[in-house]
Amino acid sequence: MLDFQAILNAIYNKGIAAKNKGTVATYIPELAEVDINNFGIHLRTAQGEEFGVGDDNKLFSIQSISKVLALSKAMALIGEDIWKRVDVEPSGDPFNHLSQLELENGIPRNPLINSGAIVISDILISNLKNPKEDFLSYIRDLAGDESIQYNLDVANSEKATGFKNYAAAYLLKSFKNLQNPVEEVLDFYFHQCAIEMTCSQLTKTFFFLSNQGKCILNKVHLRKSQAKRINAIMLTCGFYDEAGEFAFEVGLPGKSGVGGGIVALLPDQFVITCWSPGLNAKGNSKLGMLALEEFTTQTKLSIF
Ligand code: GLU
Repeated sequence: MLDFQAILNAIYNKGIAAKNKGTVATYIPELAEVDINNFGIHLRTAQGEEFGVGDDNKLFSIQSISKVLALSKAMALIGEDIWKRVDVEPSGDPFNHLSQLELENGIPRNPLINSGAIVISDILISNLKNPKEDFLSYIRDLAGDESIQYNLDVANSEKATGFKNYAAAYLLKSFKNLQNPVEEVLDFYFHQCAIEMTCSQLTKTFFFLSNQGKCILNKVHLRKSQAKRINAIMLTCGFYDEAGEFAFEVGLPGKSGVGGGIVALLPDQFVITCWSPGLNAKGNSKLGMLALEEFTTQTKLSIF
């Protein structure tokens, strides 16, 4: 029997002692103020046992991790039609890269880079009655937690500085791959990125993807085959231009965000979330990557 608590404690102690904790993202002014010394890990097994260490109950900005949840909502709403507007290939480029979009006629490489997520935002706006409210309710339902909120300061901070996202949205519009006005789509996109959660809440939220589409309250949100597809996309596209490295070192489907969060899972076994706001050169949490590598090495629990 693995002693998960002891394993997490050891990984945590090694992490907080690390001299190089990476660099906090500064291109979204609101995120630049987060203390680099935060570090939390939370694990939930398929049997519902939970283990946590460090700052696993502090709120942080989930940023690009929200792209997985937007994708799953879009999949539940329109199914396979998504793939007429977004591809499923890794990009090998940073999350906000634009040249591929132009070369590929406005069809984003995948739904987890910014241009792909902006198309998914457009799909959600077209298919939800009250997009921001309905999306937040969806997340709260997945987590079984009504306290989850948008951080409006973060959303506004991104709105004021997200010039590359405006560029991506206008490029998509020029290729007729956005149906709604750019301002409306980006308002939704900036809000979804500005959802705040703790490691513990994020672990619960992602449980449905480890549980064949059924959330912690046992409600079916996706079909088994849809959950499988999202996990495949996370494995190949979940870590910007470091997705190969994450599969190689960690061997789990997962998703990171520039707020320093990483969530990863092993279907039918567990979900694990790490948060440490210092990022490596590719924009992934430095300690989070190390922690997950250590976790799968020590437990030998990975998909491979
Ligand atoms: N809201 C961020 C942006 O669009 C998301 C960045 C991320 O976490 O990758 O720039």
